[in-house]
Amino acid sequence: MRILNIGFKNPNEFIDKLAQIWLTNHASDIHITPWKDKTLIKFRIGWELRPTYSFSNELYSKFINAMKVRSWMDISEHNHIQDWKIFMDLGINWKKVWVNLRVSSLPVVHWENIVMRILLSESEYLNLNSLWFSENNVNLLKEVEDLNEWLVLVSWWTWSWKTTTIYSLLNEFDKNKIWIFTLEDPIEYQVDWYIQSQINTVRWSWDSSHSYTFEEWLIGILRQDPDIIMIWELRREEEAKTCFEAANTWHLVFWTIHSNNAVSVITRIRQFWIESYLIASWLKYIISQKINKTVCPSCRVKKTLNKSELPVKFQKYINSTTVDVYEANISWCSKCTNGFSWIALIWEVIKIDDRLYEMLLSNTWETELKEYLFENWFTPYYIDAFNKSLKWMIDYKEAFELEY
Ligand SMILES: [Zn+2]
Repeated sequence: MRILNIGFKNPNEFIDKLAQIWLTNHASDIHITPWKDKTLIKFRIGWELRPTYSFSNELYSKFINAMKVRSWMDISEHNHIQDWKIFMDLGINWKKVWVNLRVSSLPVVHWENIVMRILLSESEYLNLNSLWFSENNVNLLKEVEDLNEWLVLVSWWTWSWKTTTIYSLLNEFDKNKIWIFTLEDPIEYQVDWYIQSQINTVRWSWDSSHSYTFEEWLIGILRQDPDIIMIWELRREEEAKTCFEAANTWHLVFWTIHSNNAVSVITRIRQFWIESYLIASWLKYIISQKINKTVCPSCRVKKTLNKSELPVKFQKYINSTTVDVYEANISWCSKCTNGFSWIALIWEVIKIDDRLYEMLLSNTWETELKEYLFENWFTPYYIDAFNKSLKWMIDYKEAFELEY
């Protein structure tokens, strides 16, 4: 991989330029890592973190100061973890594009490591139709907006667009009629219709040293009785229990949780020692997402496969004797650097039906739950990815590699 050594005169212009490069390359975040004798800039595109540029450490000190001034961080502070935001307007072609840069700084051996996560703040990006849900999954999700008092879990695997997903789900509700309260850390999109609170920054006014715990916050929110509560990832038992209590007292709760796939979310909740009758009664949906690279539309290669060439577990999902799939071009083209272009989300959606309700109630093992799901209406990640290969998006070999 070639790393270009660069220089700049104005650090602010350079920050704008980085954001432009991010947008044209469809990167998700930018990492700025100081080494002993130079600083490295890496872009995360899909799963890959690509080292792209380097510059001198003298320029790094100018860069980091400019960054901190723009994001209201403390310039003199080098030994603390800091986290803040920059809003910038990137005029790209004819269109104004507002982006929200989330900047975090962490002290490391040579100075500070900076990671900039970029989020488009345009609400047009926040709807379910633009998130690559299959027809099957859209049908399963249709009833989300009719829910009143259940628990919906959104799970993800390492880096993915969980914020975008949750906000897209919330956008399905009529904001004129219902009251949505969000508890986030940090707030990534600001939406006027929601009442948003950030867990880290809210403090007692008479004592700036004390901040609320997640649980205290949640209890406070419940007293205000919103219709929908959206809660960021919970890791502690008490917090999870409070979450179920919220559903138990007639609230619709969206909650994010970390897990490898949709089925293992159930095991993950059980680890919080939530009683099985509560899980069965209040868990309604599990939505799990992963990201996958998409093939470059300018050079992708079409291939026809016989059904018998597919791995056995794929065959039962295919009705025809041959399928046309796509793969990335190994010799790539001028529009891409490696045959891939952008990313797509792949999904698993579980709607708790009557049978699953029974199974949750009787504490059925994960393997048995899986068996039921795979024999019925469930679409595992690898099939969602494979279907996206039929639709020219994902390299079919990547679908083959997805495990369950
Ligand atoms: Zn290409």
